[in-house]
Amino acid sequence: MAGQPLSTLQAGAADPTSKHRLKLENNQPKGRAGLGVANIVGLTCIRCGASYPTTIEMDSRGCPACHETAPANLKPIYASPADPRSIAANAPRSLWRYAHTLPCSPDDAVSLGEGQTPLVEATRIGRSLGVQNLFIKDEGRNPTWSHKDRFSTVAVSVARAQGATVVATASSGNAGASLAAYAARAGLRCVVTTFGGSADAMLAQIRKYGATVLPLANKMDRWTLLAEAATRYGWFIASPYRAPVVGSHALGIEGYKTIAYEIVEQSGGITPDWCVLPVCYGDALSGVWAGFQDLFAQGAIPRLPRMVAAEVHGSLARALVAGSDRLEERSLAFESIAVSIGAPRSTYQALKALRESSGCAVPVSNDGLVEMQERLARSEGIFAELASVTPLLAIARLRREGVIAPEDRVVAVATASGLKDLDRSVGHPADKTIFRSTDDAWDWLGRNADTLMVRQR
Ligand SMILES: [Zn+2]
Repeated sequence: MAGQPLSTLQAGAADPTSKHRLKLENNQPKGRAGLGVANIVGLTCIRCGASYPTTIEMDSRGCPACHETAPANLKPIYASPADPRSIAANAPRSLWRYAHTLPCSPDDAVSLGEGQTPLVEATRIGRSLGVQNLFIKDEGRNPTWSHKDRFSTVAVSVARAQGATVVATASSGNAGASLAAYAARAGLRCVVTTFGGSADAMLAQIRKYGATVLPLANKMDRWTLLAEAATRYGWFIASPYRAPVVGSHALGIEGYKTIAYEIVEQSGGITPDWCVLPVCYGDALSGVWAGFQDLFAQGAIPRLPRMVAAEVHGSLARALVAGSDRLEERSLAFESIAVSIGAPRSTYQALKALRESSGCAVPVSNDGLVEMQERLARSEGIFAELASVTPLLAIARLRREGVIAPEDRVVAVATASGLKDLDRSVGHPADKTIFRSTDDAWDWLGRNADTLMVRQR
């Protein structure tokens, strides 16, 4: 095992309830000198288990010992394990009600009221997919209309506690919009590097929050610029910016654990059999899995769910079959309209969640994506982004193949709102017909929707 043994770290020295301790930590110099987080005593590699002090440079390479063989992200080591169920009576109505499980004091939280999204029982679409107990975790109800807010609220809180003045990300949309919003909330500056493939609404949203947007023709230049900025100016970089990719900032990912806490709490303590997410670099998949593991470790749930990744280009499915820890870059066989998850390679952190949960990865193409989006909207009243309905396509396939049983309890995480990528999901301009009279409107209904013209009672 490489790295510094945990026993040599200052475990127990940090008291998460001590304001004095927090202030000392916050006054530490930035960057390599510490994370500026009171209740974290170190970091550990999710693959080899090596432990590192909080002074390790968070440089998007993940574990130094694993970097050459199979790059893997780090995760924080808490001073003491916390029970997600121990919620204070005066806890805020946001994911910060679980602050005792997060790498930041609630006093330092930069919040817009994120989390606490509804878990909607989706009986009609469930029936059409052959699943009796389907639930949609509607993450489009977050402040910037995507699940990325769970990451950004933690990442920006940590950045500000560290004394950062500039936060930055490479993002095709939702992550950039979210980071920009939380930076605005915190009074920090935000830089978002993008490429030509972004959806228009997301790009506009990023700019509206006042972020500086740097579109780069070469996709990899987005990361190169961020690496240079980290070295030259010490910007706090939230997204991945090194290849091979390990995932986003390890402390921000902790925010995604709260999705699992909420699912179980909203289900009256019942664990789903399956939890299905759209997956790109697997930050959310990995975080949600960690959340279920926390609950299991605390005895809050008697068993763990199986995790499913709906992915575009198949790097996880390939790695699962090959048994490799190193994911290969897949050639882009087609351009996905699910722009939020279009990367050619996922990460070890996602692979680990699938392996540990006996889960699976289901490749999804563009076929049926818009139809599924409209089916969800029409049958349940939930309008989700195209990437966000890929779990439903995955569930349909796993049901057809007999992997998911009809009576299984299935949660699909719908990660973002359908307003985010209208330019991809609406293939033709909306009908511009305007009726000149009510008679014209009635004539049209008679020809196109005469079932509306039946007296109800
Ligand atoms: Zn390692």
